[in-house]
Amino acid sequence: MTYGQMNKSELEAVRDAAAAKLAEYTAEGLKLDLTRGKPGAAQLDITEGMLGVISTGDDCFSEAGLDCRNYGILDGLPETKKLFSDLLGIPTTRIFVAGNSSLNLMYDTVARAMLYGVLGSEKPWSKQGEIKFLCPSPGYDRHFAICESLGIEMITVDMTPDGPNMDQVRSYVEHDASVKGIWCVPKYSNPDGITYTDEVVEQMAALKPAAPDFRIFWDNAYAVHELTDEFTPLADIFTLAEKYGNVNNIFYFASTSKISFPGSGVAIMAASEANLDQIKPILSCQTIGFDKINQMRHVKYFGSAEGIMEQMKKHAAIMRPKFEIVDRVMREELGETGAAEWIMPKGGYFISLYVPEGCAKAVYDECAKAGVALTKAGATYPYGKDPYDRNLRIAPTFPKIEDLEKATRVLCEAVKFVAAGKRLQANIG
Ligand code: PLP
Repeated sequence: MTYGQMNKSELEAVRDAAAAKLAEYTAEGLKLDLTRGKPGAAQLDITEGMLGVISTGDDCFSEAGLDCRNYGILDGLPETKKLFSDLLGIPTTRIFVAGNSSLNLMYDTVARAMLYGVLGSEKPWSKQGEIKFLCPSPGYDRHFAICESLGIEMITVDMTPDGPNMDQVRSYVEHDASVKGIWCVPKYSNPDGITYTDEVVEQMAALKPAAPDFRIFWDNAYAVHELTDEFTPLADIFTLAEKYGNVNNIFYFASTSKISFPGSGVAIMAASEANLDQIKPILSCQTIGFDKINQMRHVKYFGSAEGIMEQMKKHAAIMRPKFEIVDRVMREELGETGAAEWIMPKGGYFISLYVPEGCAKAVYDECAKAGVALTKAGATYPYGKDPYDRNLRIAPTFPKIEDLEKATRVLCEAVKFVAAGKRLQANIG
């Protein structure tokens, strides 16, 4: 029976049983964490061999004889560009290989646009008055933090199972010149795990922006991060954008954070040659070059794009059981209640849980009281405000298996307690 079908005393029984369980969990003094999408220790261990691939100066020479220990080359080692080019299907001429973080590149890209503008800007964005970004939501909280920190107004756009609602996107982008950007995580979106359909990618590529300096921030953070043996293809935004004469609209980002070591991986930005011609002189004021020894380390360790794909199978083998635990426990505990919806993703780092409207914050609070930390309710929306108070982001990868099962059970009791209580209130109301 779903909560919607229960009478008052049945709902009270659910609520009181959940309250009793939560009290038991609280008494255990748990300290469990389902917050950030970090690889677990076993995932870090599979890349340990990378630490040894550069041990002498001789290991630091590129194919062309460049000594990676020294200054030189702003936009990355040619062999590292090739590795990413083969992996992501982007021409090497459009790639620049940077430092350890794609988020850093995204922040810098927006900040640079604010200070200098982008190709096609009449003035820096910061001198153009009000600047807005579209934020398909739920989405990645750190994208939203970049906008908030730089004073860019965020407009929420709905996510659908196919990707962002493109009618909404078009109506803003094509009619409002103050809309300068849109955040996209096109494969295994954070947090819903949605991969944009070919139609959505094509519509994105075909946008005719009102602003001459509009950009699509294509954060392909989970490009090869499958959880199953099935590879989910993503349409090639650059090829489609070429077709519509819009190739300059695309700023593409990726990194090896969840391939090798988060925080010590290699990040890239890809953009049209014309965009890179505008960016590189500014970049050269910022740095003489990025960490080429780390770039070399990645090339030597993985060898090729196929080497990376092999590595990703090892990650999946460790991660999949963790996702399955969360999915199984939630199905057991919440499957019949009608109080929770989620989709078991085929890749990425998150499970996106939807509870009844007006319940997410209370579920977050109940979990916190019982010793389970969740990503703050609302974090997946601009300004931390989920208009429906429904979405919770669960990150199953970091905790140990035994902790994960316990943490999910606590979460389920919190959902039962809050949802049954809410239903009772509604019935009384
Ligand atoms: N983009 C998305 C969508 C992410 O989920 C994350 C990390 O969780 C990042 C970027 C951060 O990537 P990086 O470590 O390359 O800065």
